[in-house]
Amino acid sequence: MSLGLNKLLTAILPILPKAFVGLFARSYVAGETAEAALTVAQKLNSQGFDATLDILGEHVKSAEEAASIADAYAGLYHEIARLDLNANISLKPTHLGLDIDYDTCKRNLFKVLDAAAETSNFLRIDMENSPHTDDTLTLYQHSLERYPRVGPVLQAYLYRSTEDLARLMSSPLNFRLCKGIYRESPDIAIQDRAAINENFLGLLRQSFEGSAYIAIATHDQDLIRQSEELIRVMDIPISRFDFQVLYGVPMDGTLEVLRDRGYKVRIYIPFGEAWYAYALRRAQENPNLVGYIFSNFVRRITTRAAN
Ligand SMILES: Cc1cc2nc3c(=O)[nH]c(=O)nc-3n(C[C@H](O)[C@H](O)[C@H](O)COP(=O)(O)OP(=O)(O)OC[C@H]3O[C@@H](n4cnc5c(N)ncnc54)[C@H](O)[C@@H]3O)c2cc1C
Repeated sequence: MSLGLNKLLTAILPILPKAFVGLFARSYVAGETAEAALTVAQKLNSQGFDATLDILGEHVKSAEEAASIADAYAGLYHEIARLDLNANISLKPTHLGLDIDYDTCKRNLFKVLDAAAETSNFLRIDMENSPHTDDTLTLYQHSLERYPRVGPVLQAYLYRSTEDLARLMSSPLNFRLCKGIYRESPDIAIQDRAAINENFLGLLRQSFEGSAYIAIATHDQDLIRQSEELIRVMDIPISRFDFQVLYGVPMDGTLEVLRDRGYKVRIYIPFGEAWYAYALRRAQENPNLVGYIFSNFVRRITTRAAN
């Protein structure tokens, strides 16, 4: 869809009834409760997919709320262990109070990290927009000193990612590579889609040349094919990477093909009461998303009608 149409849809989104927006958002969010997300994770596990769970929310301004989010994440690790799920957690630093101050966030993050350690699980620290990049990478490095099973995210659209990757690879590294979802200035971020893909593959090669573990996070089928080709040419063992996608994004059977080739595939499952505010904010930040979601919705309806 054209950017103009995406912007128009984005502008009218806040005045549409919440239930109507829910029609679109529902396929991308597991539900409002942890139980709903755990049930989805269980189902995906039974189909041979791993999961990562994310409580929706960000930019928390109250210390009490940030602490209670940390408790919820810690509880989630124990639920994952109790149900013996193949699932870990992804979280956003501003959900744990990074907008309040660094120390509040670090304290909350360490609480979550301790629960990850108690249950021998992994924690992924998502990457937010560029004002948070330095703090997030510092939080990651402090976390690594406390518990080794933690990893950051690098965004292929940021020019700085090549240097960040080189620096982070001086310690054992498990990172997620994605294109980047926020709108960033041309001074710091590549704007051209083909050039972002090129940088994505460059970063992938850079990490394969070292010893990092890489979560290849994209729905872009060409990029998945090119990543697979790189893996083949460089003879990279499957223990070095997995593929990751967001729950609900139509992949036309690609996930099953990847799984059947023996690759690990992990699905990112967001859940929580904050889905509506989250959907609106994300839409404002990236009008293309509204276009994706709308075209996917139409595609689902027409496929259903044709069957
Ligand atoms: C597991 C995972 C974790 C991520 N974590 C982060 C993070 O921590 N920080 C960050 O900045 N970004 C994160 N992202 C988002 C990422 O940076 C991209 O913005 C997003 O994945 C879209 O880029 P793409 O690589 O899928 O390619 P695109 O070319 O943008 O998309 C390819 C196709 O995928 C579909 N699609 C893509 N995204 C969506 C969506 N949200 N809803 C519906 N359909 C969609 C569309 O059909 C589109 O045509 C994550 C993505 C994934 C898969």
